[in-house]
Amino acid sequence: MNIATARDHIARIGGLLFERRLTDAAGGNISMRVGDVLCMSPSYSGGKRQWRLEPDRVLVVGMDGEKLEGEGQISREANVHLRLHEEFCDYGTAVIHAHPRNLLVFAALEEPVPPVLEANLKFGEIRCVPYAPAHSPELAENVAAGIRGQEVKVREQAYGVIAPWHGLFLMGKDLDAAFDAVERIDTNARTILLARMSGQGERVEEKRRALLGSVEASGKEH
Ligand SMILES: [Zn+2]
Repeated sequence: MNIATARDHIARIGGLLFERRLTDAAGGNISMRVGDVLCMSPSYSGGKRQWRLEPDRVLVVGMDGEKLEGEGQISREANVHLRLHEEFCDYGTAVIHAHPRNLLVFAALEEPVPPVLEANLKFGEIRCVPYAPAHSPELAENVAAGIRGQEVKVREQAYGVIAPWHGLFLMGKDLDAAFDAVERIDTNARTILLARMSGQGERVEEKRRALLGSVEASGKEH
């Protein structure tokens, strides 16, 4: 993977996140490590560019947070990206911060998202980290602490945490794996919400416990 390919990939994934309502105009950002630099979506990719990024707008940033190439400003959420790439560089190469439409309900309620579909068993429960204001150094610390201990999930595909009142921060082994995980996690959140809205909230929870029991009994890994 070279820098040109990474910038192109970030631009494409940003468009898909927006199109599929996995993030919104208010926010989200994407980064990918290539060698000893990061390629990162610029500030206001949603608010000012509606996630229609030309690849050369994707920034190239040093691991110290200094911009090396590209137009536009570094995202205010870059400190979370830098922190995760620094601490978990042996496990993953891509970070997505997103405001997925269905998951935001759980973020607003400060509520974790348990897996209710087989496709999500590999992530386990998506937990909330303690609240810290957007763009604060505390947020970066809390997100890193939330991913710590789940590094194997990052290496296998991805792991993410919910920042209360805000959204999702997720690290993946690569950008495709990270995008796939964001979509699976939001679909899982939507499934729980629709079950609750149709009066089946308790049933989906009972089913979840029963299915987890069957998975454990079968001893298979998912
Ligand atoms: Zn955000």
